[in-house]
This record gives sequence, C-alpha cells and structure tokens, in this order.
Amino acid sequence: MNAVAPRPTILSIKAYAPGESRVPGVNRTIKLSSNEGAFGPPPGAMEAFREAAAELHRYPDGSSTALREAIGSRFGLDPARIICGAGSDELLLHLIMSYGGEGTELIMSAHGFTMYDITGRYAGCQVIKVPEREMRCDVDAMLAAVGPRTKIVCLANPNNPTGYLLPQPEVARLRAGLRDDILLVLDAAYAEYVTDPTYEAGAAMVDAGGSTVMTRTFSKIFGLGGMRVGWGYFPAAIADIINRIRGPFNVNIAAQAAAIAALAEPGWIERNIAHNTEWRAKLGAALTASGIKVWPSEGNFILADFATPEACRAADAKLRARGLIVRGMGGYGLPACLRITIGTAEECQMVSDALCAESSALAV
Ligand SMILES: *Cc1c(COP(=O)(O)O)cnc(C)c1O
Repeated sequence: MNAVAPRPTILSIKAYAPGESRVPGVNRTIKLSSNEGAFGPPPGAMEAFREAAAELHRYPDGSSTALREAIGSRFGLDPARIICGAGSDELLLHLIMSYGGEGTELIMSAHGFTMYDITGRYAGCQVIKVPEREMRCDVDAMLAAVGPRTKIVCLANPNNPTGYLLPQPEVARLRAGLRDDILLVLDAAYAEYVTDPTYEAGAAMVDAGGSTVMTRTFSKIFGLGGMRVGWGYFPAAIADIINRIRGPFNVNIAAQAAAIAALAEPGWIERNIAHNTEWRAKLGAALTASGIKVWPSEGNFILADFATPEACRAADAKLRARGLIVRGMGGYGLPACLRITIGTAEECQMVSDALCAESSALAV
C-alpha cells in the first residue's frame, strides 16, 4: 500500500521553531525569545477581548472593516488597500503563494526572517539566500542575485534577527534595481520601534506605484501576538488578488476587537518606544562593556554575538539557570549568537547580571 505523499519540495522545509517558553526545573521563567512587547497586552485590548466573549457565536466581519478604518486613520492610509490577516505571516503566505510558485525564485538576505524561506519553499519557489556583510543586507548582492525567474524579494526592515535597519535610500535603490514584475515585500514588523527619523516603513513606496507591498503586525509593539493579527498595505491590483484567495473570515472576532482597542490605547506606542530605546541601549552597553559584541538594532531585541558557539552555549546556560529564555540562532546559521528580547527593566537587569562579569545596576 502506498502512503499519500506531499509535493516533494515540502520535504525540504524544516518546521519553524517558535521561541521556547519553559526551562525544566526552574520555577520562574522569563520569556525573552519571541520579541513580544515588554508590557503585556494593552489594558483596553484585554477589555475588548472580554467583551467579545458575548459575540463568539457570530462570524467576524470578513473584511475587518472597522479595523482597517482604524489602521487607516492611525497611519494615514487608504483602508481600501489595507488587508488584515491572522498575523502578518498569513499575508506573507498569500503573497508568496499568489506570486511565487514552481519555476520562480524568491530572494532574501542570508539572515532574513525564516518564514520567507519556509513559505517560499511551500509555494515551490527556489529560495535564494544572499550573503550579508557584517549582518547587513547587501543591496548590490541582492540585485546581482536577480535572474529572469525572480518573482519575489523579501526584506524585513528592521530585520529580525539581526536588528539591522537598511537606510531608506538603500531600500529605494533596491526597488529601483528590480524589474517592475518583481514583487518587493517590505516586512515592517518592527516599524513602530524605529527611532531613525529618516525611516519610512514602506507606505510611500507602495504608493509610488508598481509591485511593492508593506506588511505590519500587532504582535510586537501592540502586544497581541497571541491574538494573531497583522495587516498589509498594497497596490489596488495586489489587494484584489489577496482578497480573492484569503480565508473569508481570516481574522477572528476577538482579534479584530482587541486590535482596534490596542490602536486606541492612550500613550501606548510612546511608552513602549521610550522604554525600548532606553533599555536596548542600556543592556547593549552593559554587554559591550563585558566584551560581548552586540549588533546595532532598531527592533525590540538585540543580537548578542559571543564569537564562538561554545561561548554562546555557556552564556545560554547562565541565562537558563536564572530562568531566562532567549533565542538560539543556530537555525539562522548564527550559532555564536543569541537574540534577546528587550523585556522590562527588571528583566534587562537579570540578563545583565547573568552575562556580565561585573554587572552593575543598569537603572542608575
Ligand atoms: C514577528 C515577525 C513577523 C510575524 O508576525 P505575525 O504578525 O505575528 O505573524 C513577521 N516578520 C518579522 C520580521 C517578524 O519578526
């Protein structure tokens, strides 16, 4: 008897490894492995979630109309060209399935976000990983990798896990060097954390016309990773395609309500940016002072580089002994690195105490 077999390319996919959330034998574990916000969910979002309980028998609004309008007014965008998804991962899936496929190539930088690789292979694309320079996406090398079969280029900006922000002129140069029939996906999952005043998350490039899309998420600064809500901003023709194939009720009723409330939470973004900027710098400086290389980051995490896999494993063990879970980077080909989410002040202090030989109080 023959067992049913998947398409052969699917067997080349390694399942996404989510950040761990438990250390066996340690009472209190602190999860700094998935870049979830430092402050939990916005209180208004929790309230909206509770209120949604009374409506759970109803199908959600399949077009996420109120949420798209709230996003549009918050970010100054046309709601008709916004699509919400069950996480931005869902939108990446639909984009890559719709525009990629067998016989096409998807280009990403070597340490780009893993989901491009997984989803590209699922779609049947040949995934090309372009070497970086010093953990930075190399636009010349990306453009040099483009061939006649290239259909999609994915760029996380800021990038996860390196934290690198590709400057706006370089993003524009990447787009300008791509044929118009190549889809450029600008994944701006960490956009809200960026403090560089020249940063443009991607909306202007989408509006400039052609084949550029921007994806965003409620999972990071808005603290709603467990609700699975993301959104994208598209040219009208691409929005039309994605609306044809997405699930008709892809964002659940509680997720829509929580996301709308998160957008309305007074001072939430400002407080999170201020905290993240301050503590990312403090923790980075403490690790650097202890001889640990920290790559510059514009996200809510830092990439700590311990130079050797052995030193990295030893550092991870010290963190785990204190219940601190961070993200190993072996899957990204960075076995000497740990990605550490910026948590609360106390959590940053604990990381410093665990890793720095002469850790002092970061708060002073
Ligand atoms: C977290 C993350 C996402 C996915 O977020 P969801 O909206 O939760 O699916 C997408 N891209 C990057 C670079 C991320 O780090």
